[in-house]
Amino acid sequence: MAESAHHTHGPDRASPESRSPLPGTDVGETRFRKLLESAPDAIVIVDDAGIIEIINQKTEELFGYPRDELIGKSVDGLLPARFRGHHAQSRAGYTADPYRRPMGAGMDLFGLRKDGSEFPAEISLSPMESEGKRHVTAIIRDISDRKAAEAALKEHAAALARSNNALEQFAYVASHDLQEPLRMVTSYLQLLSRRYTGRLDADADEFIGYAVDGATRMRNLIEDLLTYSRVTRKAKEFVPTDCTTVLKQAARNLELAVEESGAVITHDELPTVMADDIQLVQLFQNLISNAIKYRSAASPEIHISAARQNNDWLFRFRDNGIGIDPRFNERIFEIFKTLHPKHQFVGTGIGLAICQRIVERHGGRIWVDSIPGHGSTFCFTLPRGDAENFSEQHR
Ligand code: ADP
Repeated sequence: MAESAHHTHGPDRASPESRSPLPGTDVGETRFRKLLESAPDAIVIVDDAGIIEIINQKTEELFGYPRDELIGKSVDGLLPARFRGHHAQSRAGYTADPYRRPMGAGMDLFGLRKDGSEFPAEISLSPMESEGKRHVTAIIRDISDRKAAEAALKEHAAALARSNNALEQFAYVASHDLQEPLRMVTSYLQLLSRRYTGRLDADADEFIGYAVDGATRMRNLIEDLLTYSRVTRKAKEFVPTDCTTVLKQAARNLELAVEESGAVITHDELPTVMADDIQLVQLFQNLISNAIKYRSAASPEIHISAARQNNDWLFRFRDNGIGIDPRFNERIFEIFKTLHPKHQFVGTGIGLAICQRIVERHGGRIWVDSIPGHGSTFCFTLPRGDAENFSEQHR
């Protein structure tokens, strides 16, 4: 142990041999020793003044002291200087009120080796009585590996967040900046189409038609991409949001599609949740519009329900449409993923990616249950949180 620690923290009061806090039979003693020596962690037993009485081999290895340099010294010498004053105080507190617990809860603890180097440690303390005297057992574990893994994980998460951010920024800027040149292409194509359809040959008319179609599709893609990147960029604060009102708004926005398809939308009682109301309308609207778009021969019937599930509300949007092959249950939520040829259904494949992003931003999950030919049920959760108290208070 470092000299300074020795001087500061009490005299060398006894030789190792004269201090035997755990008496009993020799057999008991031998067993106790074996147990101590085979322990995977450093074990240090101190008296009520913090003087080291017993250590095991792991302690020697961990701190780099031979046993006889530790026995009889203050345990404070095993801690970096910055912890010592505090430790002496805590130790007094602990002796007054001993019970088994981790040391320095919520604090990053370190051990001090003989060579002056430190290691992050986890220390648990338990009181022990023998021969009418109080002792404290400290079990010390070197957590360098765990700390390094935690730090690596943290760094990894931060790097991921940075790259996500950069990607998001890119998607936003790219889609935003693409709008202007695309507008120009579209308007000149429309001009060509207006002025020259029927004045060139049939091939030319067809080509212009394709070009107009392509430009329109691109405009839809860019608009959807912008909507997608706005889910987190233009996010509003969460407010108590009544889902029945949200549903009404979503249905109103889809009035034309509902009318044309003869869709019937029904619902159970819906809760009030903490949400970004505009995004919730968008979520409901995307799901309902898909239920109408991917309808079967039967006219669309859409039923919306919500049930309590643990700490969440579980929402279900059930339709009687064409259904989804379970093989694609995950993929449909990816950006730009559509399952059908372009000529069959018009879509950019971003709708469900937007839904997923909105749900996740609200702390929920989204998935689909479907049997092809028997319709689909899109399910998502939203945390019940404070909104429930809010709605119950205001009922
Ligand atoms: P889009 O509708 O633009 O293609 P979405 O992301 O909204 O993109 O949907 C992805 C795919 O999931 C769709 O192409 C479709 O195949 C499938 N899908 C979504 N909703 C339904 C539904 N209610 N019934 C059947 N298939 C659906």
